[in-house]
Amino acid sequence: MQTPGATAPLDTSVYAARMDRVRAAMASQHIDVVLLSLGLDLPYLTGYHAMPLERLTMLVIPRAGMATMVIPGLEAPRVTEQPGVFELRPWAETENPVEIVARLVGRSSRIAVGDQMWARFLVELLPLVSNASYVRAVDVVGSMRMTKDAAEIAALRAAGAAVDRIASELQAGRIPLVGRTEAEVSADLGARIVAEGHQMVNFAIVAAGENAASPHHTPGARVIRAGELVLCDFGGTMNGYCSDITRCVSLGTPPSDVRDAYDVLHAAQQAAVRAAVVGTPCEEVDRAARRIIADAGFGEYFVHRTGHGIGMDAHEDPYIVEGNRRPLEVGHAFSIEPGIYVPGAWGMRLEDIVVAAAGGPDPLNVVEHDLVVLDV
Ligand code: ZN
Ligand code: ZN
Ligand code: ZN
Repeated sequence: MQTPGATAPLDTSVYAARMDRVRAAMASQHIDVVLLSLGLDLPYLTGYHAMPLERLTMLVIPRAGMATMVIPGLEAPRVTEQPGVFELRPWAETENPVEIVARLVGRSSRIAVGDQMWARFLVELLPLVSNASYVRAVDVVGSMRMTKDAAEIAALRAAGAAVDRIASELQAGRIPLVGRTEAEVSADLGARIVAEGHQMVNFAIVAAGENAASPHHTPGARVIRAGELVLCDFGGTMNGYCSDITRCVSLGTPPSDVRDAYDVLHAAQQAAVRAAVVGTPCEEVDRAARRIIADAGFGEYFVHRTGHGIGMDAHEDPYIVEGNRRPLEVGHAFSIEPGIYVPGAWGMRLEDIVVAAAGGPDPLNVVEHDLVVLDV
């Protein structure tokens, strides 16, 4: 779960327009009320990012009438009020906030609940609301968040450019690797993510040699040595929007099998980027990468989906995975990150963020894609 980023709220009109779209989706799906607690739907609609506290914060959006943000009294000063978008209902320490929410929910019969809400609050709410059915709010807000507007794409592009600058330092050999531990390099990348303008580091995976065969390896005390491939996958949140990039560098000339595998990976990644055209189903983009890797004999070593959507969340819809028949739309933003992982030997991944644009796939990461060989 993400902690709050220092994001300046947008103009009230942006939130009002988003709330109108939520109500239209509620009407078409016969949803009476939407309940949003933690997670990023709340800041998307209100500009307020709730900390994951044990005290309840809940935005109650009825299909008609004003939305109410039920919030711990001591958190209320952190909220930038958005007149006409929501009202604040701060609760005192001795009040039961779940009862406040239950009163606002009233006789609603179809309730949409955000994915991120402490189970205890839903468990406490259920007996207070009778004869209601529940659906996921992702069906209402998630599809809106998937389609980025120009300002959101600009924010993703700025975050992407920032991590590109770090990747280019890595590829230029200006981030020391040999003799340092993975954890030291990870901390270095984290500091650079902040120095480049992100408010928050989301992850900085550094995996050397055989460790890179674990796609989400935790950087540790392993010392990086000459002669190996090092995988760096890092990103953060800048002004509310996420970056995410993976590049590998070879510390000295790689063995020919690694070189050949990287060429396959590179071709697969570029094929998937080219396939990410508006109207193409997400699974077809996955297949574009997977086909090339499988044809080269590495199919069993590509153990994850090709990509994930990205926006306010580092991972969100749409997922670039077999079985997702959703066609790409203008404004969808997602990663293209095939990998090849040979247990006990090596691993490699190549990742860019790409936006589906009217003029074709628009990659937000453009730093060198080929395997950069560093002198050691
Ligand atoms: Zn990942
Ligand atoms: Zn990544
Ligand atoms: Zn990613």
